[in-house]
Amino acid sequence: MHEVSLMMSIMDIAFRTARDENACKINKISLQIGEKAGIVVDSLEFAFEMVTKNTIAKDASLEIETVPLKGECLVCGLQFVSSEFLICTECGNFAKAISGQELNIQSIEVE
Ligand SMILES: [Zn+2]
Repeated sequence: MHEVSLMMSIMDIAFRTARDENACKINKISLQIGEKAGIVVDSLEFAFEMVTKNTIAKDASLEIETVPLKGECLVCGLQFVSSEFLICTECGNFAKAISGQELNIQSIEVE
């Protein structure tokens, strides 16, 4: 379950942020996760509970925003949202993913 190690690196950053700001509590962590990032949100939420237990983030809430898969055609440059394939909806050529595979920490609220 790579969500646990992922969550650990996220919390690592969160704890460092809290320390840098002399905070004693982490209130909220907002993440942006690409639809095709290969991350199971349920597992990530479970990992969050596990990793934050007995820490300054134990009461923190986790907010997850899902980012849809978006492609940009390598031939005509069209940008489109797709649920499965990165094939241009206009000319049928291959496209590269421009979003939908990311994992970003949007914000960390500390107190
Ligand atoms: Zn195209």
